Order: sequence, then C-alpha cells, then structure tokens
Amino acid sequence: MPTDYYEVLGVSRDATDADIKRAYRKLAREHHPDANPDDPNAEARFKEVAVAYETLSDPQRRANYDRFGADGPGLGGDPFGGGGLGDIFEAFFGGFGGPGGGRQQAGPQRGSDLEVVAELEFETAVFGGEAAVRVNTLISCDTCEATGAAPGTHAATCQNCSGTGQVRRVRQSILGQMVTASPCPRCNGQGQVIDSPCTDCHGEGRKREQRTYTIEVPAGVDDGATLRLTGRGAVGPRGGGAGDLYVHLRVRPHERFARDGDDLVHELHVSMTQAALGAEIPLETLDGDEAIAIAPGTPTDKVLRLRGKGVPRLHGRGRGDLRLHVVVDTPTDLNAEQEELLRRLAELRGESIAEPDGGLFSRIKSAFR
Ligand code: ZN
Repeated sequence: MPTDYYEVLGVSRDATDADIKRAYRKLAREHHPDANPDDPNAEARFKEVAVAYETLSDPQRRANYDRFGADGPGLGGDPFGGGGLGDIFEAFFGGFGGPGGGRQQAGPQRGSDLEVVAELEFETAVFGGEAAVRVNTLISCDTCEATGAAPGTHAATCQNCSGTGQVRRVRQSILGQMVTASPCPRCNGQGQVIDSPCTDCHGEGRKREQRTYTIEVPAGVDDGATLRLTGRGAVGPRGGGAGDLYVHLRVRPHERFARDGDDLVHELHVSMTQAALGAEIPLETLDGDEAIAIAPGTPTDKVLRLRGKGVPRLHGRGRGDLRLHVVVDTPTDLNAEQEELLRRLAELRGESIAEPDGGLFSRIKSAFR
C-alpha cells in the first residue's frame, strides 16, 4: 500500500530539510526496536520512518517523489546506497558496526568495513561499466563453518553470563538503584565459549584471504567518488556478518578530453585559414566520429557546444554537453611560397609586418636577448 512519506514523518510538504531531520530523529528514537522490546510492530514502524526519511532527506529523490510518488524514477536504485536502511541505521545510531552504543548484545559481532581504491578508465567513468578490485579481507573459515570450534565440537553457552554476553551489576546511588551492564569478561561478550578451537582459524571462525570483486560502475561517476558495496567487507569473528566495502574511485585522465562536471571539454585546434574561411573539422568524440563546422571568422577562445554529448548525469536524466574550445594555431613552418602569399595578403589588407630576415624581427629578438 502506498504511504505518504510526509504523513509518516508528520511534516508538511514544504517542510525544510531541518524540519524533516528533526521529525525523523524524534520518530526514530520513539520507534526504535531497542526502545520497544515488547512491541513487535515497532520495527515495522521504525523502518517505515527510515524509508520516508531516506527519500525526503535527499533533495533529488524528494523532488522525484514530489513529482512521481514512491514509484517514480530514481527511487528504486541508488548507486551509492544498496545498503538502504542499513545506511540510515548506522548514520544515526553510531558508527560502523562493532559493539557500540545501545545495541550491545550477545552474539556474533559484525566484521569491519574495508576500503579500497579502484582505478577507472576515463570512458568507464563516463559510460559506466565494470571494474575489478582486489581486497585483503577476512572470509568465513570453511573448516569449522565459521563457528571457531574444532570440527565435531561445539561452542558452549558461557556459564558466567548464561549466554547473554553481558554481566549486570546493581548499585545504589544517590539517584536510586542503578543497573549497569558490561560485556562478559569470560566470553568477551560473545555469550559462548569454545573449549577446542578450530586449528585452521585459531578459533576465530574466519581467515585472511585476497579476493577480487567486480564492481558495477554507474555511468557519470567522477574522480573521488566512493561506491559502497554492502556486505563485501570483512566477516566478523565466529559467524559475525560482513562489513561493507567502500571503493574510492580514481579516474585516469583522458589524453583529449577533460571533465567539467557533466560536461566534457576539448581544445579544438584549427589553423589560421580554417578559422578565417570556415571549415569542417573531423573529431573523434567518445561517441564516435563527428564533423565540426567552423564558421568563417571563428576567433580563438570561441566555445562550440555539442548538446548531449557530455557525461550522463549520475543523479538525473540526460547528459551534459561536449564543449569545444577553439584554439587558432599560428603557422610556424611556412615555406617560401606560403610566406610570399601571406605577405601579399598583409599588403592587401594594409597590415604592417616584419621585414624578411633582419628588420623588425631581429630587432625584437635582440631586445629580448
Ligand atoms: Zn575454523
């Protein structure tokens, strides 16, 4: 059933980003499953709030939602997300996995996030594609099936904490009775103890390995962007879930094209005569061959724009432009006949020029010697 995200957060349709954030924080705290251990519906309500916030907190997605509703374009897949709820959960409740904040509980601990740099060809960043990254990671131990216990044996419930992973202490304070909980020292908060550890992984339930992952590169990414691959980080000890893999993108420069946001920029060299008389210059663009029309009298620094021949917009539709910056080249390799023709041209136009050999040119040179 479609739900109105604004209603879910209890804000008006013209609410500011700050209003939305405030409403979300309040509701998330209220409905957080940890705060409502006895209410089975709390988690569903919490997720609903998180989904609404995820959309309304992103200007692009909010605009799409306003226009098209929840089924609109661009709301399904987020090239940087994939994590969805996980993102918000962590952003809000503190940090990358690990036993933190109020979510401490017995059981396997999530593995750490990993970071890696991927070098992309210029064209891959523009049009999207695949890239491979090699990662030093931790994977589940097959020998013990990630339990950490030698094959044929099992981890036993920790007697010290009765498997809760926590020890509670009750103290009297001036505010009354206070209960503090801390990780069980015997099982390190795991709730279980292993008497005969797996020899392959020394009871860790995981081992180090180098892995190669193929990443999907969305069209339009730029140098410095980061992709997040949910669940491709290191696994946690003894069956703990995997962290995420963050892939930082480095884009190799192109020999002819540069990026300026969603535009591609190219310096288009034309000769003096082509600039003066007009010409059609062949140009190999990233999309194929084009014939660029140079109008008669085109000055240097003129910008020609090929609409829609730039970079696909990462967060939107369409593509940027290909901008051609005209550079008029001055000939430096004139033979005698060509020089004669140019001298004749200058004469016809009444332009003063240097004398051949000696004259003005050698005077200029000596002035700078
Ligand atoms: Zn093992």
